[in-house]
Amino acid sequence: MQNIQTCQLCDSLKLLICENTEEKEYLNTVRYLDGFIQRGIIELQPINDELADTCLLNEISKMNPKPAHWISDLIRHSMKCKECGSVFELVCDTYRGVWWFKNV
Ligand SMILES: [Zn+2]
Repeated sequence: MQNIQTCQLCDSLKLLICENTEEKEYLNTVRYLDGFIQRGIIELQPINDELADTCLLNEISKMNPKPAHWISDLIRHSMKCKECGSVFELVCDTYRGVWWFKNV
């Protein structure tokens, strides 16, 4: 178990850390994280200095209950806690049908 540095505001995100194959759970996680973004606790940040293969979480949230097709084979979101700077990553490998959320 890695030692994850979080603060009061983003501490509950630790509970989301997982690897999962349930698409429904992915969308639930997206919505949950989107709520954190809307409340200004975390913010999306570029991956490898570009936003080319990323999109806003709320765009995925709208694909309810199920997207007609995934926007990409690999959907990656990197987000940072505005308070403590802790970085989390949500990755969905739609090709293999697996997704994970981790602290990086
Ligand atoms: Zn934090």
